[in-house]
Amino acid sequence: MNKLKVGIPRALHFYRYFPFWKKILEEMDVEIVLSPLTNKKIVEKGVQQGFGELCIPMKIYYGHVLNLITNHQDLDFIFVPRYIAEVKDAYFCPKFLSLPDVIKILPNIPKILNFEVNVKEFPISYSAVELGKQLGLSRSRSLEAYNRAKNYYNQYLSFLKEGAPVNYALRLVNRNIPFKLPKQKTQNDIRLLLLGHGYNLFDTFINLDFQKKLSDRQVDVLTIENMPESVFKTPVIVNNKLRNYWRHEEEIMQAIRYFLTEGRNEIDGVIFLISFACGPDSLISELIMRDMKVVGLPYLAIIMDEHSGEAGMLTRIESFVDMIKRKKKKIELKFQQEKSKIKV
Ligand code: SF4
Repeated sequence: MNKLKVGIPRALHFYRYFPFWKKILEEMDVEIVLSPLTNKKIVEKGVQQGFGELCIPMKIYYGHVLNLITNHQDLDFIFVPRYIAEVKDAYFCPKFLSLPDVIKILPNIPKILNFEVNVKEFPISYSAVELGKQLGLSRSRSLEAYNRAKNYYNQYLSFLKEGAPVNYALRLVNRNIPFKLPKQKTQNDIRLLLLGHGYNLFDTFINLDFQKKLSDRQVDVLTIENMPESVFKTPVIVNNKLRNYWRHEEEIMQAIRYFLTEGRNEIDGVIFLISFACGPDSLISELIMRDMKVVGLPYLAIIMDEHSGEAGMLTRIESFVDMIKRKKKKIELKFQQEKSKIKV
């Protein structure tokens, strides 16, 4: 019997949950059709579909869905999850809450395969059973698939914590290759923390291959996916009046808290890639900038949209990296002078 075909748009939470989705859907015996890497045509289509003020990741999502509709007319479903809350005290951005509703009105769209995650109301195992129902599976079969997917996803997360770059790890997942760290490169003198949503940091088309530009300038990059679990255990209290309740922004703030305290000497600066028209990110960017000033860590926020140009991006990276180099040189010089004074 032919398997059911399910299309997955390679956008938004793909960069966070694809290993889980792939495993659970394969365990549920469906064939996955993944949209290609983001390209110019996908962005153009998405921009035509999305209204002007929409953030670029949402427009790109539209573009990927349209690509699947056009190129895979035999799809039985398109997988469009609804992420509401993955932990009890934080929400995902409202764009994720309404995702299946805005996608289902696209022309010629196949049936939506929904996977609703809202642990404030029900456990994720329940979401898995509901997912299985749409594919005609029994409760026990769906729970079995869920447990296998959960185990696999935990292995994937541990692999990232060991230092695997996200895009490298996703490639292994996509090709069904066992997790194995890439060969260690020699460390560079400059190490930066790169902040942002996975879909901004790891979609190399929309961010103009940002990480490569840094590595070409001998800069090592750390992202929060590679940081130890312990950093994310306690919530950040900004002040008594302001409580951040966005899931991903909370993780960013927790990472920053670590580098403001015990991890202060582990990085030389912070870059935050932000989507134009993203409310949650612009709010925390302001808070991070103030904190960075207090500790004297160089900070650069780059706002991206479909018009971002290579030349502008390069100039900003180069001047930021040059500024850090000069700063490090100055500190080293001062240190040498102090040392020579002691000898005398
Ligand atoms: S968090 Fe920001 S970038 Fe992400 S979907 Fe929401 S508005 Fe768009």
